[in-house]
Amino acid sequence: MVISIDQSKCSRCRMCIEICPVGAIEEKDLIMVDMFRCIKCRSCVVACPSKAIVIK
Ligand code: SF4
Ligand code: SF4
Repeated sequence: MVISIDQSKCSRCRMCIEICPVGAIEEKDLIMVDMFRCIKCRSCVVACPSKAIVIK
């Protein structure tokens, strides 16, 4: 299972960064998920107002 961000939908609101309990999401050039830190809690998927975060 991989959490991925559809960059074409992401508005860079940073809500996912605020909500992630383990600090796995960072803003670099793009909003990125560090899958080594991610505990697959899905909080970011639910929180994203743009429905830009998908689980594969
Ligand atoms: S919550 Fe969604 S729209 Fe906002 S920065 Fe994260 S991925 Fe992008
Ligand atoms: S699924 Fe949970 S742990 Fe993983 S990036 Fe999203 S909020 Fe963070």
